[in-house]
Amino acid sequence: MLIVMRHGAPEEDIQRVAATIEEMGYQARPMPGKQRTTVGLVGNDGRVDASRLAALPSVQEVIHVTKPYKQVSREWKPESTVIRLPGGLSVGGDEVIVMAGPCSVESERQILAAARAVREAGAAVLRAGAFKPRSSPYSFQGLGMAGLKLLARAREETGLLIVTEAMDGEALGAVAETADIIQIGARNMQNYSLLKRAGRAGKPILLKRGLSATIQELLLSAEYILAEGNPNVILCERGVRGFDPATRNLLDLSAIPVVHGVSHLPIIADPSHGTGHRDMVMPMAKAAVAGGADGLLVEVHPTPDRALSDGAQSLYPEQFDRLMKEIRLIAEAIGRRVAEPAGVRV
Ligand code: PEP
Ligand code: MN
Repeated sequence: MLIVMRHGAPEEDIQRVAATIEEMGYQARPMPGKQRTTVGLVGNDGRVDASRLAALPSVQEVIHVTKPYKQVSREWKPESTVIRLPGGLSVGGDEVIVMAGPCSVESERQILAAARAVREAGAAVLRAGAFKPRSSPYSFQGLGMAGLKLLARAREETGLLIVTEAMDGEALGAVAETADIIQIGARNMQNYSLLKRAGRAGKPILLKRGLSATIQELLLSAEYILAEGNPNVILCERGVRGFDPATRNLLDLSAIPVVHGVSHLPIIADPSHGTGHRDMVMPMAKAAVAGGADGLLVEVHPTPDRALSDGAQSLYPEQFDRLMKEIRLIAEAIGRRVAEPAGVRV
């Protein structure tokens, strides 16, 4: 529920609305706006007596948010969220942000080579997993803490920001110390205790769509993070389970306009896990940018044939370089631009 205050409402009236909400057993989230202040009521169990709030001084109207998710909805916040990242980068505004790198951190040599290559081509963020959610317990599980240290070294050398996955609450603290953006993977999209901890982690969260999650479920998972006080959530469409083995997943690009319609949160696309084949990554990456994605998450490996995970869907550095050139043209055609890495910004 949203309590919209009159233009120029005195602070004491806003405070009174907030205090009344708290008295009623809910949480108040005052949101000052350019025109007027709105006070959000969080924790609505469907039994709120709106008349008590509507009668308070300076209250203009009480709006019931119709969607099951509240704080992530456009009803709650009509203007798009722009998430500020270190180095002057942002997600959700005019810029299209590209996060690229290998599936996993494998060695110092591999991650530094990958970081240099994606930086050279113009990516702004280095992606790579130190903790890997693998379908088989016998597959490479990632370097863990040692991988985080290597990512920190890659950032030091290249200036790229880091996005990397936290698979459980145990690792979340260490990931939060190293990462500029904490990734919650598809398999953990409905790990509610992890989502709550991510809401208290103090870093932006990249939340990937679950393997068979509806868009509404994705948004409800994002709501868990906002409800804990972290407004900086970037959604990621990475494909859902399809019926056709021609692709690894069914990359649902229509999720991008759907999310933009009902939510103020930014959404990026991952054409690597979305297709599973490097030759399909480039066309789908371009389609995603044309379709309004706020960014891309792309797997790039210096030597994909020797990758310890997801080699078949990892681009060669030359392919990624070409892709960057092409998406710059597409971004420009739709009135956006591809974000430059920090340090080369003018
Ligand atoms: C990844 O991006 O490293 C990853 C494991 O992706 P997903 O969670 O989408 O499978
Ligand atoms: Mn991968």
